[in-house]
Order: sequence, then C-alpha cells, then structure tokens
Amino acid sequence: MKVIGLLGGMSWESSIEYYRIVNERVRERLGGLHSAHCVLYSVDFAEIERMQVEGRWDDAAEVLNSAAATLVEAGAEIVVLCTNTMHKVADRIDVPLLHLADTTAAAVRRTGITSVGLLGTAFTMEQDFYTGRLASHGLDVLVPDADDRATVHRVIYDELVQGVVRDESRQAYRDVITRLVERGAAGMILGCTEIELLVSQADSPVPVFPTTRLHAELAVDIALGDDLRVSPDPQPRSSP
Ligand code: GLU
Repeated sequence: MKVIGLLGGMSWESSIEYYRIVNERVRERLGGLHSAHCVLYSVDFAEIERMQVEGRWDDAAEVLNSAAATLVEAGAEIVVLCTNTMHKVADRIDVPLLHLADTTAAAVRRTGITSVGLLGTAFTMEQDFYTGRLASHGLDVLVPDADDRATVHRVIYDELVQGVVRDESRQAYRDVITRLVERGAAGMILGCTEIELLVSQADSPVPVFPTTRLHAELAVDIALGDDLRVSPDPQPRSSP
C-alpha cells in the first residue's frame, strides 16, 4: 500500500472527512484491521482565506508548495490537495497531485453524463482553472446565476468551513440545484469539499458527484495498486 499525503486544513472540517474516507475505503477493500498509510499536513485556513480575498495567489502557492514538499519528505507517494478552490495554484506545486477536477470529470464521464451543474466557491464556479479543466474532459458545465452563486459561496465561508450546518442552507442549496436541473444539468458536482456536509444524493433529483469522497476513494484505489490514475492528457471536448 502506497502512502497517501493529505494536504488539508482547507478547511479542517473537510480534512477529517478525507481522513475518515481513506480509512473506511482501505477497510472496505482489505477488511479486518487494515487502515490507510497516510500523512496529513494541515494549514491554518485563516491565512489561506486572507490570501484568497486579497488575491495573493503567489503567496498561497508558496505555502502549499512547501507543505506538499513536507508531505513527500514524510513519505507521501500520492499527494491529495483537499480543496477544489486551491487547485487554482495546482500547476505551481512542484510535486505531482491527484488533480481533483480530473478525478471528478472522470467520475462524471463514467456515467455517460455530459451536462453537469457545478456548486463551489465563487473562485471555483467563476474561474477557468476549474470549469475549463472540466470542459477539457468534454463536459458542459453549468454554474448557478449570480445571486445563487453568492448564496452558495456565502454558505461555504460563513457556515460550512466553520462547522455550521443549517437546514435553511440545505433548502437554499436544493433550490439552486433545482434551477440548474431546469437549465439542463443532468448531474451535480458538489465542487467544494465541505458541501457533502450539507447535501447528499437525497437533496438532488440528478446524480451528485461528491468531490471529497471521489478524491479520497481514488487515492486509496491508486495506493492499493489499481491503475486508475486519471489521464494527465484530458479527453478532447465532444462536439456540440
Ligand atoms: N474546501 C473548499 C473547496 O473545496 C473551500 C475552502 C477553500 O477555499 O479552500 O473549494
């Protein structure tokens, strides 16, 4: 079993889910008392969030690059950046990452779905580093309208990363999902690693793609030797 390196803390509310899921997946696959070989480096999210707000992405890249190197020094053989948003600086991290957008796109494509809704932070929903990466796998990505994006973003930062899970926010997310489905989304990417704390398949009329679970489970499958590493060379975009 290879050693999984979790680069977490963004927020720790989702990092503990990664830790739980990698261990559950190993137990499910190997049985008995087996658990994951893994190391965790967890940052102070307040520092990262300030860098996001101030647009100091170079500084954030430096912090994450150094954390990733520390994970490798500690023995990590598969490095997992436990946040969709911070994949904005993924190409500035020197060690190979199991890319979250590639992992998610591969899961969507396996179902045959091509038109998919995306919920996440404003950075993830509005910037090409994520939507473009999904599109490069042949997916048509639908994001909520401006008001709905503001709601989805606010709930993440004001509630979920602080461990607050509210029924009203779950209902707001359900409404956003419904509007995306009405616009043609046949699947729904839960593209922020805390969203799974709030909504599940029961909240969506179309299949959901929970990025924390997909990412953590793929890391384990690769750690156990499955030849599942998603192509670094994304599939060409399908014709309309
Ligand atoms: N964990 C979140 C994500 O997956 C948001 C927190 C962050 O900005 O990293 O995007």
